[in-house]
Amino acid sequence: MPDSTKKTLPSADDLARLPASERIRYRLVSAECRHHANDNIAAFIHDGELSELKAEVQTHMQALLRALVIDTDSDHNTADTAKRVARMYIDEVFRGRYAKPPVVTEFPNASHLNELMIVGPVRVRSACSHHLCPILGKIWIGVMPNEHSNLIGLSKYARICDWVMSRPQIQEEAVIMLADELQERVKPDGLAIVMEADHFCMHWRGVKDDETAMTNSVMRGAFLRDGNLRREFLTLLSRKKG
Ligand SMILES: [Zn+2]
Repeated sequence: MPDSTKKTLPSADDLARLPASERIRYRLVSAECRHHANDNIAAFIHDGELSELKAEVQTHMQALLRALVIDTDSDHNTADTAKRVARMYIDEVFRGRYAKPPVVTEFPNASHLNELMIVGPVRVRSACSHHLCPILGKIWIGVMPNEHSNLIGLSKYARICDWVMSRPQIQEEAVIMLADELQERVKPDGLAIVMEADHFCMHWRGVKDDETAMTNSVMRGAFLRDGNLRREFLTLLSRKKG
């Protein structure tokens, strides 16, 4: 066999010897699958690899503290910081990258509801992709169902929202991702999302401005076509916001 063909594919043993992050990356690249900060990569992670990944992040986090010239050996405050941060990233604040999509039961719209429905405020906890600083805010969702739409429970909107937001995000992309997820499951006639959030990178660094709230919206289907529906949604929203 010529050398070039021998080299093309690593064997299962070769892969097993790699760090978990390299193994997962190999699968993603082979499948030509995008893996930006706000993409979910759960389908490429095998059983048990998440704890390997956590250990790897911990090692690198420890190296980061060392590069910051922090003496984690004698500083009891930072002794376990690398471990804490690795857990926080993988299990909590960036969980939406590694966890499978929430299981959501959809019900057919049996009573043919066709009235504007508003869900919210749904609490948003995210982080910005630029600085990995928190983004905290609220989301309101407007749904205009038709007879072919699926209905999902109110708490499910919050679970899908949390899954999309628990990633390093960019607010403009986050609302579009959430709209795509809801569109796919609910299949409404119209979908509207408004997100209002506070970006902590603006408080903590840079201009240290206190006016750091950002509002974004996505309007689809009936909300784009029908100005009256859009106005109804925005009016009800301002009343809900108080
Ligand atoms: Zn930022």
